[in-house]
Amino acid sequence: MTARRLLLEDVLLPTGWARDVVLEIESGWIRAVLPGGAAEGCERIPGIALPGLPNLHSHTFQRAMAGLAEIRGPGEDSFWTWRGVMYGFLGRLTPEEVQAVAAQAMVEMLEGGFTALAEFHYLHHDPAGRPYANPAEMGARVAAAAAETGIGLTLLPVLYSQGGFGAQPATPGQARFLHDVDGYARLLDASARAVAPVEDAALGMAPHSLRAVSPEGLRAMLEIRRDGPVHIHAAEQLREVEECLAWSGQRPVAWLLSNAPVDRRWCLVHATHMDPAEVEGLARTGAVAGLCPITEANLGDGVFEAPAFLTAGGRLGVGSDSNVEITAPGELRMLEYSQRLARRGRNLLAAAPGASTGRSLYEAALAGGSAACGRRIGRIEPGHRADLAVLDRSHPSLSLAEGDGWLDALVFSAGAAALDSVVVGGRTLVSGGRHHRREAIARRYRAAMAGLAGRAAG
Ligand code: ZN
Repeated sequence: MTARRLLLEDVLLPTGWARDVVLEIESGWIRAVLPGGAAEGCERIPGIALPGLPNLHSHTFQRAMAGLAEIRGPGEDSFWTWRGVMYGFLGRLTPEEVQAVAAQAMVEMLEGGFTALAEFHYLHHDPAGRPYANPAEMGARVAAAAAETGIGLTLLPVLYSQGGFGAQPATPGQARFLHDVDGYARLLDASARAVAPVEDAALGMAPHSLRAVSPEGLRAMLEIRRDGPVHIHAAEQLREVEECLAWSGQRPVAWLLSNAPVDRRWCLVHATHMDPAEVEGLARTGAVAGLCPITEANLGDGVFEAPAFLTAGGRLGVGSDSNVEITAPGELRMLEYSQRLARRGRNLLAAAPGASTGRSLYEAALAGGSAACGRRIGRIEPGHRADLAVLDRSHPSLSLAEGDGWLDALVFSAGAAALDSVVVGGRTLVSGGRHHRREAIARRYRAAMAGLAGRAAG
Protein backbone atom coordinates (compact mmCIF):
# COMPACT_ATOMS: atom_id res chain seq x y z
CA MET A 1 0.00 0.00 0.00
CA THR A 2 1.28 3.45 -0.85
CA ALA A 3 2.06 6.13 1.68
CA ARG A 4 -0.53 8.63 2.88
CA ARG A 5 -0.21 11.94 4.69
CA LEU A 6 -3.28 12.97 6.66
CA LEU A 7 -3.97 16.27 8.36
CA LEU A 8 -6.06 15.63 11.48
CA GLU A 9 -7.98 18.64 12.82
CA ASP A 10 -8.35 17.37 16.38
CA VAL A 11 -6.83 14.13 17.60
CA LEU A 12 -6.45 12.14 20.81
CA LEU A 13 -2.76 11.25 21.15
CA PRO A 14 -1.24 9.26 24.05
CA THR A 15 -0.18 12.65 25.45
CA GLY A 16 -3.69 14.12 25.17
CA TRP A 17 -5.61 16.25 22.71
CA ALA A 18 -3.75 17.95 19.87
CA ARG A 19 -4.83 20.12 16.93
CA ASP A 20 -3.64 20.17 13.30
CA VAL A 21 -1.51 17.07 13.42
CA VAL A 22 0.08 15.54 10.33
CA LEU A 23 0.06 11.76 10.29
CA GLU A 24 2.50 9.99 7.98
CA ILE A 25 1.40 6.48 7.09
CA GLU A 26 3.32 3.82 5.19
CA SER A 27 2.08 0.29 4.43
CA GLY A 28 -0.60 0.66 7.09
CA TRP A 29 1.79 1.77 9.85
CA ILE A 30 2.10 5.19 11.45
CA ARG A 31 5.61 6.44 10.62
CA ALA A 32 5.38 9.95 12.09
CA VAL A 33 3.01 12.09 14.15
CA LEU A 34 3.78 15.76 13.60
CA PRO A 35 1.82 18.34 15.60
CA GLY A 36 1.91 21.57 13.64
CA GLY A 37 3.54 19.75 10.70
CA ALA A 38 3.56 21.20 7.21
CA ALA A 39 0.09 20.66 5.75
CA GLU A 40 1.14 20.86 2.07
CA GLY A 41 0.22 17.73 0.17
CA CYS A 42 -1.91 16.34 3.04
CA GLU A 43 -5.44 15.00 2.82
CA ARG A 44 -7.49 16.91 5.37
CA ILE A 45 -9.59 14.65 7.63
CA PRO A 46 -12.30 16.85 9.07
CA GLY A 47 -13.58 16.03 12.57
CA ILE A 48 -12.21 14.56 15.77
CA ALA A 49 -9.85 11.61 15.34
CA LEU A 50 -9.63 8.89 17.98
CA PRO A 51 -7.61 5.69 17.99
CA GLY A 52 -9.98 2.97 16.74
CA LEU A 53 -11.29 0.70 19.50
CA PRO A 54 -10.49 -3.03 19.45
CA ASN A 55 -13.34 -5.53 19.83
CA LEU A 56 -11.69 -8.16 22.01
CA HIS A 57 -14.37 -10.86 21.96
CA SER A 58 -16.83 -11.96 19.29
CA HIS A 59 -18.45 -14.99 17.73
CA THR A 60 -19.34 -13.43 14.38
CA PHE A 61 -21.67 -16.25 13.28
CA GLN A 62 -24.00 -15.41 16.18
CA ARG A 63 -24.86 -12.15 14.37
CA ALA A 64 -27.27 -14.27 12.31
CA MET A 65 -29.45 -15.05 15.35
CA ALA A 66 -29.44 -11.51 16.77
CA GLY A 67 -32.95 -10.67 17.92
CA LEU A 68 -34.25 -14.21 17.32
CA ALA A 69 -34.04 -15.44 20.92
CA GLU A 70 -36.18 -12.78 22.59
CA ILE A 71 -39.39 -14.81 22.93
CA ARG A 72 -40.26 -16.18 26.34
CA GLY A 73 -40.09 -19.96 26.56
CA PRO A 74 -42.29 -22.32 28.57
CA GLY A 75 -39.95 -22.43 31.58
CA GLU A 76 -37.52 -19.95 33.03
CA ASP A 77 -35.35 -18.43 30.30
CA SER A 78 -31.63 -18.18 30.92
CA PHE A 79 -28.24 -18.28 29.26
CA TRP A 80 -28.66 -22.05 29.01
CA THR A 81 -31.97 -21.92 27.07
CA TRP A 82 -30.39 -19.27 24.81
CA ARG A 83 -27.46 -21.63 24.24
CA GLY A 84 -29.94 -24.33 23.13
CA VAL A 85 -31.37 -21.95 20.50
CA MET A 86 -27.83 -21.04 19.40
CA TYR A 87 -26.80 -24.71 19.01
CA GLY A 88 -29.92 -25.44 16.91
CA PHE A 89 -29.04 -22.51 14.73
CA LEU A 90 -25.34 -23.11 14.16
CA GLY A 91 -25.94 -26.78 13.41
CA ARG A 92 -26.92 -25.81 9.87
CA LEU A 93 -24.44 -23.09 8.86
CA THR A 94 -22.27 -23.72 5.77
CA PRO A 95 -18.82 -22.17 5.23
CA GLU A 96 -20.28 -19.76 2.64
CA GLU A 97 -22.92 -18.67 5.14
CA VAL A 98 -20.33 -18.25 7.88
CA GLN A 99 -18.37 -15.89 5.61
CA ALA A 100 -21.50 -13.93 4.65
CA VAL A 101 -22.53 -13.51 8.28
CA ALA A 102 -19.00 -12.66 9.44
CA ALA A 103 -18.63 -9.99 6.75
CA GLN A 104 -21.97 -8.43 7.75
CA ALA A 105 -20.93 -8.39 11.42
CA MET A 106 -17.55 -6.86 10.51
CA VAL A 107 -19.17 -4.09 8.44
CA GLU A 108 -21.33 -3.27 11.46
CA MET A 109 -18.25 -3.34 13.73
CA LEU A 110 -16.42 -0.88 11.49
CA GLU A 111 -19.47 1.40 11.22
CA GLY A 112 -19.83 1.04 14.99
CA GLY A 113 -16.32 2.27 15.76
CA PHE A 114 -14.40 -1.01 16.16
CA THR A 115 -11.29 -1.17 13.96
CA ALA A 116 -9.92 -4.53 15.17
CA LEU A 117 -11.47 -7.82 16.15
CA ALA A 118 -10.40 -10.80 18.23
CA GLU A 119 -12.60 -13.60 16.93
CA PHE A 120 -13.09 -16.43 19.44
CA HIS A 121 -13.71 -19.07 16.84
CA TYR A 122 -15.13 -22.45 17.80
CA LEU A 123 -17.33 -23.51 14.85
CA HIS A 124 -14.83 -25.81 13.10
CA HIS A 125 -16.39 -28.93 11.55
CA ASP A 126 -19.19 -29.82 9.15
CA PRO A 127 -22.73 -30.32 10.48
CA ALA A 128 -22.03 -34.03 11.10
CA GLY A 129 -18.98 -33.13 13.20
CA ARG A 130 -16.42 -34.22 10.55
CA PRO A 131 -13.40 -31.99 9.86
CA TYR A 132 -13.42 -30.23 6.50
CA ALA A 133 -10.61 -31.08 4.05
CA ASN A 134 -8.92 -27.92 5.32
CA PRO A 135 -9.23 -28.23 9.11
CA ALA A 136 -9.30 -24.41 9.28
CA GLU A 137 -11.96 -24.05 6.56
CA MET A 138 -14.21 -22.01 8.86
CA GLY A 139 -11.32 -19.90 10.21
CA ALA A 140 -10.33 -19.21 6.61
CA ARG A 141 -13.87 -17.92 6.00
CA VAL A 142 -13.55 -15.53 8.93
CA ALA A 143 -10.16 -14.41 7.60
CA ALA A 144 -11.65 -13.91 4.11
CA ALA A 145 -14.41 -11.75 5.61
CA ALA A 146 -11.77 -9.67 7.44
CA ALA A 147 -9.85 -9.20 4.18
CA GLU A 148 -13.07 -8.19 2.38
CA THR A 149 -14.14 -5.67 4.99
CA GLY A 150 -10.70 -4.44 6.05
CA ILE A 151 -11.08 -4.93 9.81
CA GLY A 152 -7.92 -5.87 11.75
CA LEU A 153 -7.97 -9.52 12.81
CA THR A 154 -6.76 -11.65 15.67
CA LEU A 155 -8.00 -15.18 15.10
CA LEU A 156 -8.38 -17.28 18.24
CA PRO A 157 -9.03 -20.91 17.25
CA VAL A 158 -10.84 -22.55 20.15
CA LEU A 159 -10.06 -25.86 21.83
CA TYR A 160 -13.31 -27.50 22.90
CA SER A 161 -12.98 -31.10 23.97
CA GLN A 162 -15.66 -32.03 26.50
CA GLY A 163 -19.29 -31.30 27.35
CA GLY A 164 -18.84 -30.09 30.93
CA PHE A 165 -16.67 -30.06 34.07
CA GLY A 166 -15.04 -33.39 34.90
CA ALA A 167 -14.70 -34.71 31.31
CA GLN A 168 -18.45 -34.96 30.67
CA PRO A 169 -19.16 -36.26 27.14
CA ALA A 170 -20.00 -33.64 24.53
CA THR A 171 -23.61 -33.32 23.39
CA PRO A 172 -24.63 -33.69 19.72
CA GLY A 173 -25.05 -29.87 19.62
CA GLN A 174 -21.32 -29.54 20.31
CA ALA A 175 -20.17 -31.91 17.52
CA ARG A 176 -18.94 -29.06 15.29
CA PHE A 177 -16.55 -27.73 17.97
CA LEU A 178 -14.55 -30.75 19.10
CA HIS A 179 -10.81 -31.47 18.99
CA ASP A 180 -8.29 -33.39 21.03
CA VAL A 181 -4.97 -31.61 21.59
CA ASP A 182 -3.28 -33.20 18.54
CA GLY A 183 -6.18 -32.18 16.32
CA TYR A 184 -6.00 -28.72 17.83
CA ALA A 185 -2.29 -28.44 16.97
CA ARG A 186 -3.16 -29.24 13.33
CA LEU A 187 -5.97 -26.67 13.47
CA LEU A 188 -3.50 -24.01 14.67
CA ASP A 189 -1.10 -24.77 11.80
CA ALA A 190 -3.92 -24.54 9.28
CA SER A 191 -5.19 -21.37 10.95
CA ALA A 192 -1.76 -19.74 10.60
CA ARG A 193 -2.01 -20.37 6.85
CA ALA A 194 -5.61 -19.08 6.82
CA VAL A 195 -4.73 -15.69 8.33
CA ALA A 196 -1.46 -15.23 6.39
CA PRO A 197 -3.12 -13.28 3.53
CA VAL A 198 -4.74 -10.79 5.95
CA GLU A 199 -2.56 -7.74 6.53
CA ASP A 200 -1.01 -7.72 10.03
CA ALA A 201 -3.33 -10.50 11.27
CA ALA A 202 -2.43 -12.20 14.55
CA LEU A 203 -3.08 -15.72 15.77
CA GLY A 204 -3.76 -16.68 19.36
CA MET A 205 -5.18 -19.62 21.27
CA ALA A 206 -8.44 -20.06 23.13
CA PRO A 207 -9.28 -22.85 25.54
CA HIS A 208 -13.08 -22.42 25.40
CA SER A 209 -13.72 -22.57 29.15
CA LEU A 210 -13.04 -24.81 32.13
CA ARG A 211 -16.30 -26.54 31.19
CA ALA A 212 -14.95 -27.52 27.79
CA VAL A 213 -11.23 -28.20 28.40
CA SER A 214 -9.64 -30.53 30.98
CA PRO A 215 -6.67 -29.41 33.13
CA GLU A 216 -4.42 -31.80 31.15
CA GLY A 217 -5.78 -30.46 27.86
CA LEU A 218 -5.16 -26.90 28.98
CA ARG A 219 -1.56 -27.65 30.00
CA ALA A 220 -0.85 -29.49 26.74
CA MET A 221 -2.31 -26.82 24.48
CA LEU A 222 -0.28 -24.08 26.17
CA GLU A 223 2.86 -26.02 25.17
CA ILE A 224 1.99 -25.71 21.46
CA ARG A 225 2.63 -21.98 21.16
CA ARG A 226 4.61 -20.00 23.72
CA ASP A 227 3.57 -16.57 22.48
CA GLY A 228 0.48 -14.72 21.29
CA PRO A 229 -2.74 -14.06 23.19
CA VAL A 230 -4.61 -16.70 25.21
CA HIS A 231 -8.33 -16.13 25.76
CA ILE A 232 -10.76 -18.17 27.87
CA HIS A 233 -14.41 -17.74 28.92
CA ALA A 234 -14.54 -17.66 32.73
CA ALA A 235 -17.19 -17.18 35.40
CA GLU A 236 -19.88 -15.83 33.08
CA GLN A 237 -22.75 -17.61 34.81
CA LEU A 238 -23.48 -18.48 38.45
CA ARG A 239 -24.28 -22.07 37.46
CA GLU A 240 -20.79 -22.33 35.98
CA VAL A 241 -19.30 -21.11 39.28
CA GLU A 242 -21.36 -23.68 41.24
CA GLU A 243 -20.37 -26.51 38.87
CA CYS A 244 -16.71 -25.50 39.07
CA LEU A 245 -16.87 -25.48 42.88
CA ALA A 246 -18.48 -28.92 42.88
CA TRP A 247 -15.81 -30.24 40.49
CA SER A 248 -12.66 -28.68 41.97
CA GLY A 249 -13.54 -26.94 45.24
CA GLN A 250 -12.52 -23.65 43.62
CA ARG A 251 -14.33 -20.92 41.71
CA PRO A 252 -13.33 -20.58 38.00
CA VAL A 253 -11.12 -17.50 38.29
CA ALA A 254 -9.50 -18.83 41.49
CA TRP A 255 -8.88 -22.17 39.77
CA LEU A 256 -7.20 -20.46 36.83
CA LEU A 257 -5.07 -18.27 39.09
CA SER A 258 -3.76 -21.27 40.99
CA ASN A 259 -3.53 -23.83 38.15
CA ALA A 260 -2.73 -21.93 34.95
CA PRO A 261 0.11 -19.51 34.07
CA VAL A 262 -2.23 -16.51 33.82
CA ASP A 263 -0.23 -13.42 32.88
CA ARG A 264 -0.31 -10.45 30.51
CA ARG A 265 -0.87 -12.74 27.50
CA TRP A 266 -4.21 -13.79 28.93
CA CYS A 267 -7.72 -12.43 28.53
CA LEU A 268 -10.40 -13.78 30.86
CA VAL A 269 -13.64 -13.18 29.00
CA HIS A 270 -16.52 -12.04 31.24
CA ALA A 271 -14.93 -12.80 34.68
CA THR A 272 -18.33 -11.68 35.94
CA HIS A 273 -18.50 -13.60 39.18
CA MET A 274 -15.42 -12.97 41.31
CA ASP A 275 -14.94 -12.69 45.07
CA PRO A 276 -12.61 -9.97 46.41
CA ALA A 277 -9.58 -12.28 46.44
CA GLU A 278 -10.18 -13.20 42.79
CA VAL A 279 -10.55 -9.51 41.87
CA GLU A 280 -7.20 -8.69 43.49
CA GLY A 281 -5.51 -11.81 42.15
CA LEU A 282 -6.64 -11.29 38.56
CA ALA A 283 -5.65 -7.62 38.61
CA ARG A 284 -2.17 -8.57 39.84
CA THR A 285 -1.53 -10.93 36.90
CA GLY A 286 -1.90 -8.15 34.33
CA ALA A 287 -4.37 -10.30 32.39
CA VAL A 288 -7.17 -8.41 30.66
CA ALA A 289 -10.79 -8.80 31.75
CA GLY A 290 -12.73 -9.11 28.49
CA LEU A 291 -16.10 -7.52 29.19
CA CYS A 292 -19.07 -7.79 26.85
CA PRO A 293 -21.60 -5.58 28.62
CA ILE A 294 -24.38 -5.65 26.01
CA THR A 295 -24.32 -9.44 25.63
CA GLU A 296 -23.92 -9.92 29.39
CA ALA A 297 -27.06 -7.79 29.89
CA ASN A 298 -28.91 -9.64 27.11
CA LEU A 299 -28.07 -13.02 28.65
CA GLY A 300 -28.65 -11.96 32.24
CA ASP A 301 -25.11 -12.92 33.28
CA GLY A 302 -24.59 -10.46 36.13
CA VAL A 303 -22.48 -7.36 36.77
CA PHE A 304 -18.67 -7.29 36.69
CA GLU A 305 -16.79 -6.03 39.78
CA ALA A 306 -15.47 -3.07 37.80
CA PRO A 307 -14.73 -0.43 40.48
CA ALA A 308 -12.79 -2.85 42.69
CA PHE A 309 -10.96 -4.35 39.69
CA LEU A 310 -9.86 -0.94 38.40
CA THR A 311 -8.86 0.22 41.89
CA ALA A 312 -6.67 -2.89 42.10
CA GLY A 313 -4.98 -1.85 38.84
CA GLY A 314 -6.78 -4.37 36.62
CA ARG A 315 -6.85 -4.05 32.83
CA LEU A 316 -10.10 -4.34 30.86
CA GLY A 317 -11.42 -4.15 27.33
CA VAL A 318 -14.76 -4.65 25.61
CA GLY A 319 -16.19 -7.07 23.08
CA SER A 320 -19.42 -7.54 21.17
CA ASP A 321 -19.58 -11.31 21.92
CA SER A 322 -23.01 -12.51 20.65
CA ASN A 323 -23.25 -9.48 18.33
CA VAL A 324 -26.89 -8.93 19.30
CA GLU A 325 -26.08 -5.22 18.87
CA ILE A 326 -22.76 -3.96 17.53
CA THR A 327 -21.52 -0.59 18.80
CA ALA A 328 -18.23 0.38 20.42
CA PRO A 329 -19.57 3.41 22.33
CA GLY A 330 -22.65 1.39 23.27
CA GLU A 331 -20.51 -1.26 25.00
CA LEU A 332 -18.76 1.45 27.03
CA ARG A 333 -22.11 3.04 27.93
CA MET A 334 -23.57 -0.29 29.06
CA LEU A 335 -20.42 -0.99 31.08
CA GLU A 336 -20.87 2.24 33.05
CA TYR A 337 -24.69 2.04 33.25
CA SER A 338 -24.71 -1.52 34.60
CA GLN A 339 -22.44 -0.28 37.42
CA ARG A 340 -24.71 2.72 38.08
CA LEU A 341 -27.79 0.48 38.29
CA ALA A 342 -26.11 -2.07 40.55
CA ARG A 343 -24.31 0.40 42.82
CA ARG A 344 -26.74 3.35 42.68
CA GLY A 345 -24.12 5.97 41.87
CA ARG A 346 -22.83 7.96 38.88
CA ASN A 347 -19.51 8.27 37.05
CA LEU A 348 -18.28 5.12 38.76
CA LEU A 349 -15.57 4.23 36.23
CA ALA A 350 -14.00 7.69 35.81
CA ALA A 351 -10.28 7.38 36.50
CA ALA A 352 -10.13 10.12 39.18
CA PRO A 353 -12.18 12.97 40.62
CA GLY A 354 -12.66 15.52 37.87
CA ALA A 355 -11.88 12.97 35.12
CA SER A 356 -14.25 12.42 32.20
CA THR A 357 -16.01 9.06 32.38
CA GLY A 358 -16.15 8.82 28.58
CA ARG A 359 -12.41 9.34 28.18
CA SER A 360 -11.58 7.04 31.11
CA LEU A 361 -13.67 4.22 29.63
CA TYR A 362 -12.37 4.77 26.10
CA GLU A 363 -8.69 4.81 27.10
CA ALA A 364 -9.06 1.80 29.40
CA ALA A 365 -10.70 -0.20 26.61
CA LEU A 366 -8.05 0.93 24.09
CA ALA A 367 -5.21 -0.30 26.28
CA GLY A 368 -6.82 -3.56 27.41
CA GLY A 369 -8.33 -4.36 24.01
CA SER A 370 -5.05 -3.76 22.17
CA ALA A 371 -3.16 -6.02 24.58
CA ALA A 372 -5.79 -8.73 24.21
CA CYS A 373 -5.53 -8.58 20.41
CA GLY A 374 -1.74 -9.01 20.57
CA ARG A 375 -1.15 -6.35 17.91
CA ARG A 376 0.40 -2.86 17.86
CA ILE A 377 -2.87 -0.95 17.78
CA GLY A 378 -4.84 1.47 19.95
CA ARG A 379 -2.39 4.39 19.98
CA ILE A 380 -1.80 7.17 17.47
CA GLU A 381 1.94 6.87 17.73
CA PRO A 382 4.78 5.83 15.39
CA GLY A 383 5.11 2.05 15.10
CA HIS A 384 1.39 1.41 15.54
CA ARG A 385 -1.24 0.58 12.92
CA ALA A 386 -2.99 3.60 11.43
CA ASP A 387 -6.45 2.79 12.84
CA LEU A 388 -8.72 5.80 13.40
CA ALA A 389 -12.34 6.49 14.23
CA VAL A 390 -13.26 10.05 13.30
CA LEU A 391 -16.23 11.87 14.82
CA ASP A 392 -18.46 14.28 12.92
CA ARG A 393 -18.21 17.53 14.87
CA SER A 394 -21.50 18.74 13.36
CA HIS A 395 -23.45 15.98 15.16
CA PRO A 396 -25.92 17.79 17.49
CA SER A 397 -24.65 15.96 20.58
CA LEU A 398 -21.15 17.32 19.98
CA SER A 399 -22.16 20.93 19.47
CA LEU A 400 -21.28 22.16 22.99
CA ALA A 401 -18.50 19.65 23.59
CA GLU A 402 -14.76 20.18 23.54
CA GLY A 403 -11.87 17.86 24.39
CA ASP A 404 -12.89 15.07 26.73
CA GLY A 405 -16.48 16.26 26.32
CA TRP A 406 -16.37 14.79 22.80
CA LEU A 407 -15.86 11.36 24.32
CA ASP A 408 -18.61 11.88 26.90
CA ALA A 409 -20.96 12.94 24.08
CA LEU A 410 -19.93 9.92 21.98
CA VAL A 411 -20.38 7.38 24.79
CA PHE A 412 -23.42 8.76 26.60
CA SER A 413 -25.39 10.63 23.96
CA ALA A 414 -24.66 10.26 20.26
CA GLY A 415 -23.33 6.68 20.16
CA ALA A 416 -22.00 5.38 16.87
CA ALA A 417 -24.21 7.86 14.95
CA ALA A 418 -21.48 10.45 15.63
CA LEU A 419 -18.92 8.45 13.63
CA ASP A 420 -18.05 9.92 10.27
CA SER A 421 -15.06 8.05 8.91
CA VAL A 422 -13.11 4.98 9.95
CA VAL A 423 -9.57 4.23 8.81
CA VAL A 424 -7.89 0.84 9.31
CA GLY A 425 -4.26 0.19 8.39
CA GLY A 426 -4.26 3.57 6.63
CA ARG A 427 -7.25 2.75 4.42
CA THR A 428 -10.50 4.70 4.72
CA LEU A 429 -13.19 2.00 4.97
CA VAL A 430 -16.12 4.02 6.31
CA SER A 431 -17.12 7.45 5.01
CA GLY A 432 -20.18 9.39 6.09
CA GLY A 433 -20.86 6.58 8.58
CA ARG A 434 -21.13 3.93 5.85
CA HIS A 435 -18.76 1.14 4.92
CA HIS A 436 -17.77 1.28 1.24
CA ARG A 437 -18.96 -2.30 0.64
CA ARG A 438 -22.05 -2.11 2.86
CA GLU A 439 -24.69 -2.73 0.17
CA ALA A 440 -23.06 -5.74 -1.50
CA ILE A 441 -22.27 -7.40 1.83
CA ALA A 442 -25.80 -6.82 3.19
CA ARG A 443 -27.29 -8.25 -0.03
CA ARG A 444 -25.22 -11.43 0.30
CA TYR A 445 -26.12 -11.65 4.00
CA ARG A 446 -29.85 -11.43 3.26
CA ALA A 447 -29.51 -14.15 0.60
CA ALA A 448 -27.64 -16.38 3.05
CA MET A 449 -30.32 -15.86 5.69
CA ALA A 450 -33.07 -16.66 3.18
CA GLY A 451 -31.26 -19.88 2.26
CA LEU A 452 -30.86 -20.85 5.90
CA ALA A 453 -34.53 -20.16 6.65
CA GLY A 454 -35.54 -22.15 3.54
CA ARG A 455 -33.50 -25.18 4.66
CA ALA A 456 -34.97 -24.93 8.17
CA ALA A 457 -38.51 -24.89 6.73
CA GLY A 458 -37.79 -27.62 4.18
ZN1 ZN B 1 -18.14 -15.62 24.12
